[in-house]
Amino acid sequence: QAHLTAAETLNPRINAFISLTPEVALSQARAADAALARQEGGSLTGIPLAIKDLFCTAGTRTTAGSRILGNFVPPYESTVTANLLRDGAVFLGKANLDEFAMGSSNTSSAFGAAENPWKRRGEEGTALVPGGSSGGSAAAVAARLALGAMATDTGGSIRQPAAFCGVAGIKPTYGRCSRFGIVAYASSLDQAGPIARTVEDCAILLKSMAGFDPRDATSSAREVPDFQASCERSIKGLRVGIPREYRLDGLPAEIASLWEAGIAWLKEAGAEIRDISLPHTRHALPTYYIVAPAEASSNLARYDGVRYGVRQDGEDLKDLYERTRAAGFGPEVQRRILIGTYVLSAGYYDAYYVKAQQVRALIKRDFDQAWGKVDAILTPATPSAAFGQDEKQDDPVAMYLNDVFTITANLAGIPGMAVPAGQDAKGLPLGLQILGRPFDEETVFAVARNIE
Ligand code: GLN
Repeated sequence: QAHLTAAETLNPRINAFISLTPEVALSQARAADAALARQEGGSLTGIPLAIKDLFCTAGTRTTAGSRILGNFVPPYESTVTANLLRDGAVFLGKANLDEFAMGSSNTSSAFGAAENPWKRRGEEGTALVPGGSSGGSAAAVAARLALGAMATDTGGSIRQPAAFCGVAGIKPTYGRCSRFGIVAYASSLDQAGPIARTVEDCAILLKSMAGFDPRDATSSAREVPDFQASCERSIKGLRVGIPREYRLDGLPAEIASLWEAGIAWLKEAGAEIRDISLPHTRHALPTYYIVAPAEASSNLARYDGVRYGVRQDGEDLKDLYERTRAAGFGPEVQRRILIGTYVLSAGYYDAYYVKAQQVRALIKRDFDQAWGKVDAILTPATPSAAFGQDEKQDDPVAMYLNDVFTITANLAGIPGMAVPAGQDAKGLPLGLQILGRPFDEETVFAVARNIE
């Protein structure tokens, strides 16, 4: 009830939730009380969470931040949210996001932008973005409207908003969590993960979310370790790599010095710091912005006004499709569909899409080689702190640059975590990122605990 009251009070200002579902929350909370009375609580019994509005929730509207799904009530539950319900969680509502998870600022949501609860010192009037695409999830946790949140990350959408809002978030290894029932953006990159106040809270949530699911052909059958226990592991003797290609020209001094501070904390905890090279890093951004729109253009072909969501009537079937998609999709989604269909079209496919897949393999190989020398990698989470809601809106490429440190993990399929590590000169939170070997989230958690 306390979280619902806080959410109802603050949501008109920060717009972290597209839908608040008090009836659902209170009935789940009553069930949690009853389970506790019977001493049958699970790991999350009674824990109030915000669920990114990209996860299908049975009987609760799921919009993906798009007009085209504005009336869509899924008849089934995503595997990740079903796992959380099994363990007793309470769902407060559906968190705001960039339309179809395409964006880095939550400004492309058809339901209005979400706002970062943090303010620049001396500029309290300026509304800042919470990051994206999981901006509502991060803002809800940062504003203390929820104890944790579900999010997804295709190119940084868990880690960048976590960093912008001063909270923790992990994108696990591709395949760790089932994608069943999550509205698809780019299927070879999408992963679910938690955002929470602490590294340990993320560990508890991820344990509940993860696991094999026969309904997702890419979900892994590996056993899910006790991530909470791994938070307590010593990092003495652990080799941590610092990739020289991430020292970008023009990286703000406060980000560079935060990175140095992180290196010092890990050394103090007994880790060995090694310089490493990930030579194909500079190709990651253009590779991602070919692969992701290509997959998106294919995944979004299903929204035709016939099978799902909002329909615009037309003269004939083709006209119905065109009107529905023109009215249903916002400008950023239309831009991605255009890029995606272009790079997949006959005559351009080899030059763009096939080339991007080849470069993706090289980026993955860089990491495979690095794991021979180091056990984890430390980088900044973002190249800047949260920016103003009206900045970068007319420059898609400047917006895409936000993802420069995060997208390599999606292209390589490896786990990555953002942890709050400091503040900039205006008092805004800054995060560091820890990357790990495939299916070695345990080491990522252990390192992250020494940063937060
Ligand atoms: N900002 C990136 C994009 O717009 C990543 C989004 C995401 O991870 N879902 O594609």
